[in-house]
Amino acid sequence: MYKNIKFLDSLKNLEGKKVLCRFDFNVPTDEHGNITDDVRIRRALPTINYLLQEKAKVIILSHRGRPKGKFVKNLSMDIVVTRLKGYIHLTDHIIFVDDCIGEKVKKAIDEAPNCSIIFLENVRFYPGETQNDHEFAKKLAELGEIYIDDAFGNAHRTHASNVAITEYVENCLAGFLMKDELTYFNRALKDPLRPLVSIVGGAKVSDKLGALDNLLDKVDKMIVGGGMAFTFLRALGHKVGNSLCEEGLIGKALDIMSKANKKDVKFYLPVDCLVAKDIDSKSEIKVVPIQEIPENWIGVDIGPATTTLFSEVIKDARTIVWNGPMGVFEIELFARGTMSMVHSVANTYALTIIGGGDTDVAVHKAGEVDRISYISTGGGAFLHLLEGKELPAIKALENKCNICN
Ligand code: AMP
Repeated sequence: MYKNIKFLDSLKNLEGKKVLCRFDFNVPTDEHGNITDDVRIRRALPTINYLLQEKAKVIILSHRGRPKGKFVKNLSMDIVVTRLKGYIHLTDHIIFVDDCIGEKVKKAIDEAPNCSIIFLENVRFYPGETQNDHEFAKKLAELGEIYIDDAFGNAHRTHASNVAITEYVENCLAGFLMKDELTYFNRALKDPLRPLVSIVGGAKVSDKLGALDNLLDKVDKMIVGGGMAFTFLRALGHKVGNSLCEEGLIGKALDIMSKANKKDVKFYLPVDCLVAKDIDSKSEIKVVPIQEIPENWIGVDIGPATTTLFSEVIKDARTIVWNGPMGVFEIELFARGTMSMVHSVANTYALTIIGGGDTDVAVHKAGEVDRISYISTGGGAFLHLLEGKELPAIKALENKCNICN
């Protein structure tokens, strides 16, 4: 899909080189501002440690949240710097500069020793970042000699620090996280071991239409669960009570099922579900067959018969790609279907790839992180790949490196 992209492992001997690195450290925090999940920081360590081992000056660019081009104190990168320090053992020189362009930043970089980290402030504090502004990109580019993009989570966005910047730094490469993400994705969807099964869930059909359509050209079996399944069930004539249902997409849902039929893709929907009176942890609940969803009740999870059916479907899979939970798993009472599916996926002998913010939370919750082949760090970027779309930040790296072979 992407030609002539160079990866960091082809760069050596970086002593004293100023290497600008874009990461996605958009970490979630609680109401007190504490980081609640630092996986994106830990997944950046291979790239950072490699550069430190090669004695480079590692200049870190990232964004956090949506500050809309203004300084927002609680979206500063400072908390990430503190957390990163706990993971770095190859240098003591990790400094934070409260800006990301200009003389102050250049001075800090010039004065830093080789094998050091200079962590810069949130790039989204400047409006030029999200506008892919070339003047802003030039100012970022002036800071380094080599550019490494390892921000997979942001790769579907055309922003100054991951797209325009590549026009102004002579040598631009992808980091190790980016390499992992693309390698696993390609193994799963370009030349997969078959049967290839996709599991798609989550809230809305509208968010996943492109992915469903594209996946039907590649998979052998497709499982649809979660809130989005009710639009398909409605399209088949079932009553779905107060469950999530996008009436305007019933036609599209029928098109998807007809495409599956034409392509001989086995298509599976829930056969029973857990219904609740309210989306609330204290709600009254019951399990019903899909044909018997009562009026005014909401389908909040797949039922036990569906769990058995879906587990049967994936048992002989050689490759599984999963995006989106089977129910409102954030509420313990409605999490059983999604948790069971995580265990079933983990129990297969398949290459298992899971992506989409919420799905990876479910895998963590089920304690199965170590038994899934690959968990993507990208929500929107992973969905873009499932839709068969090009990632602009990766495209921008094509033919952009002359110093390595
Ligand atoms: P997505 O980001 O599209 O993958 O959607 C994830 C969200 O879908 C999660 O927050 C779930 O709570 C929600 N979800 C899954 N199943 C249902 C359902 N049956 N009804 C309402 N929301 C659901």
